[in-house]
Amino acid sequence: MTLESKLLDKVGGFIGGQWIAAAPGRSFDVINPATGAVLARLPNMGAAETVAAIEAAQRSIQADEPVCERRRWLEAIHDRLLAEKEAFGRIITSENGKPLKEAVGEVEYACGFFRFFADQMHRLESEVLRGRIRNCTWTVHHRPAGVAGLIAPWNFPLAMMGKKVAAALAAGCGVVIKPAGQTPLSMIALCRMAEQIGVPAGRLNVVVGQAGPIGETLCTHPTVRIISFTGSTEIGEWLATKSAPHLKRLTLELGGNAPFIVFEDASLEAAADALMANKFRVAGQTCVCANRVFVHEDVAVAFTALVAERVSKLRVGDGLDPASDLGPLIDRAQYEKVAAHVRDALQRGARRIVGGDAVPLTHDWGAFFPPTVLTDVTADMLVCRDETFGPVIAIATFASEAEAITTANDTCYGLAAYVFSESAERLDRLVSRLHFGHIGLNTGTGPTPEAPFGGFKRSGFGREGGLDGLLEFCESQVVARA
Ligand code: NAP
Repeated sequence: MTLESKLLDKVGGFIGGQWIAAAPGRSFDVINPATGAVLARLPNMGAAETVAAIEAAQRSIQADEPVCERRRWLEAIHDRLLAEKEAFGRIITSENGKPLKEAVGEVEYACGFFRFFADQMHRLESEVLRGRIRNCTWTVHHRPAGVAGLIAPWNFPLAMMGKKVAAALAAGCGVVIKPAGQTPLSMIALCRMAEQIGVPAGRLNVVVGQAGPIGETLCTHPTVRIISFTGSTEIGEWLATKSAPHLKRLTLELGGNAPFIVFEDASLEAAADALMANKFRVAGQTCVCANRVFVHEDVAVAFTALVAERVSKLRVGDGLDPASDLGPLIDRAQYEKVAAHVRDALQRGARRIVGGDAVPLTHDWGAFFPPTVLTDVTADMLVCRDETFGPVIAIATFASEAEAITTANDTCYGLAAYVFSESAERLDRLVSRLHFGHIGLNTGTGPTPEAPFGGFKRSGFGREGGLDGLLEFCESQVVARA
């Protein structure tokens, strides 16, 4: 194995406080998407291990520890993560491919959720409603919802799951974590940290391996009360269907198709900088990154030139090389999807002004895609209809504000949207007309721990971050006392 890290002295599944190593003939490998090197060999777990993890999680929450103890766990995880951000960043880069400085930024972002939820725990205190109502005193308690199944993708191996873990721990839930098959090591390292700082055995469990049987068990086992999922809309639908007869609570953070709208009165330099920061994180493999760029026709040539100049300077390479601005795509399938989107756009009349042909790949690794800028993009192209999830900027033009709003909303997704204009009135006007859960005005920034984040329409439901994100893992219990 090639990944040496002091944070990975234990590697395997983690159930009821026991580390379970890979057994011969029943294992899978985690590979570095930049080099193909095998980073770790893990047990290929399925339904039986998931049941054991659910039962361990349920046992662990019988302890009913004081809220201040849970706050201590969150603070300690925050402090350890921050102290180890470089070492943790190396794990993220090794399994995901993103540049190390981005990976360290991801650790800091994840830390923010542990800090935020630790600071919010007073919100879980019981509240006595004012006055006598119906001749009773009314008290509202926030009870832990029970065992939570957490499932997340590979694009932010620590932060996507970390935000769920922080909220679930704060609420007092027992947790079964199913990390993405490509990037399980960050969660293994996080759970090892949690174990070392004294989070009780069984409170956090990690099952790795067969997504289908693990997912089905989480959906059907009566002890699981909540499933919190981040990933594709297709798998979100599958989980909703499987869990519906069992009446589980679901939080679904699904796909996006973010519009990035640049009006004629925008600061073009600032908008181009924001687009670069927004679009090329994780090589364009984020749910909130701009998928469709709409530019007013009067400034389209000038804006495109600013973007092209910036994109042509990007360097693609191994994320551990400090010279790399972008790492590889996660695997060959993702690379082929992005290449197909570019081919489709070119066939339908788009122009490629930056980028070259994608080189055919023979491996699941080394999927370095050339950063690409397309112009003359139209609504019928895959780059507009579907989430590309790669380093491709697809630029279309519009003639009026009404057209920009209509085309931006013309998607079944509703996760994030960005608007650039110097007119405060226009920005205010657009917010209520854009059907997206997260809106950036003159900024391309994504979510933050302090604010609720989630989608409209087929981007899912439920929220992460903010007080909403904490209450997703709680049940309100109301007591009327005569
Ligand atoms: P995916 O295929 O849906 O996988 C996401 C996670 O679900 C992985 O852990 C995967 O495990 C697991 N999974 C797959 N099939 C499952 C099943 N039947 N039961 C239970 N779990 C199952 O998504 P992806 O393609 O990896 O991720 C990219 C997608 O995530 C994009 O659409 C993106 O927009 C979305 N995303 C959304 C947000 C948000 O906050 N809204 C954030 C990031 C990404 P395996 O890896 O083992 O297959």
